[in-house]
Amino acid sequence: MKRERFKPPEPDDPFCCCDCEELDDVCERLLCMEWEKPSPLSRFLPDHVDLSVLPPMVLLPVLLRVAALHCMLGVVVLTALPVLVLWYYYITHRKKRRTLFFLTLALFSLAYMYFLFITEILPRGNVGNRQVVTVTTGLIMTLVSLARTKRGPGFVRADPTCPVSYTGPAYCNGVSQSESPGGKKWCPVCRLVRPERAGHCRICGECVLRMDHHCVWINCCIGQANHKHFLLTLLLFLMTSLYGISMVLRSVCPRQSVFIAPLYCPGVYNQYSTALCFTCVWYSCIVTGALWYLLVLQLVNVSCNVTEREVHIALRNRTARSRFCGVVVETGIYTRGFVHNWIEFLTMNTHHGASHTHTHTV
Ligand SMILES: [Zn+2]
Ligand SMILES: [Zn+2]
Repeated sequence: MKRERFKPPEPDDPFCCCDCEELDDVCERLLCMEWEKPSPLSRFLPDHVDLSVLPPMVLLPVLLRVAALHCMLGVVVLTALPVLVLWYYYITHRKKRRTLFFLTLALFSLAYMYFLFITEILPRGNVGNRQVVTVTTGLIMTLVSLARTKRGPGFVRADPTCPVSYTGPAYCNGVSQSESPGGKKWCPVCRLVRPERAGHCRICGECVLRMDHHCVWINCCIGQANHKHFLLTLLLFLMTSLYGISMVLRSVCPRQSVFIAPLYCPGVYNQYSTALCFTCVWYSCIVTGALWYLLVLQLVNVSCNVTEREVHIALRNRTARSRFCGVVVETGIYTRGFVHNWIEFLTMNTHHGASHTHTHTV
């Protein structure tokens, strides 16, 4: 999968001073006469209840149980499920809406896989206590790391000493708007001067320090304060997931090697319980494969000292050097060599919501 090359301009784009997508949305609604109507259900619910948490909790178990009825149903469901999720991601991402759908899907998938492991695999008797403790510990550590990631990316806070006007600060911390390169440091939405590498997230509605990307799966931005925890969460999840998958395969396909078992496991559909576990293995393999790709991209970015936001902007402006089908993208702006890039990443300031005057990371 190639990285996105053509994206609409972000508010921090030097060539865009208006919120173009908001304008697009209003025009689209005017033309189509699609003014937002409250759904009938929303009248009976408090404002803070997000209905997008329900589909993953209902659909995931139902679809996985249907997929376990026959191998052909398994192929259809496990192909359709990622397509549906990607389609929903495209819609919500285009509209820049906050949704709990993806976070619920991620957490509920974890909980459901663990539930099946305890109720379907453990009674078979070929999984020892040590393995159960390892999986449980891995799961808890993943959730703890996720909670630390969710504490926030580190938002840019306005410096009270800066004179702020509707058109921009005349002069602030030795940098005037006209002096800053391309006027990039002024955010017209937050109305503040932000440090290098910070970016405005239109989903969170704030400027984020050393912004990487907005992760829909955890419903949070990834920035200076939580980037390390984000990578740790990915790593912990992937290790736990691979260990869990190998144990389930050893249990439902004891005669095959774990590398061949997902592709060839005779008799696995003879019993509904083993078919369900086998289907969940495939579901976990799809999720794990996608997250391994994300982790590789993240590790390459850290090695080159670029953020995902900088990659997108550089590709759009055709100022980046792209290699290995877009996996390695170098902007050449901040890189100081592999070792120094990693030292800079591992030792960067992780204070939450620090004022930009104290977190200048050029
Ligand atoms: Zn902003
Ligand atoms: Zn965000």
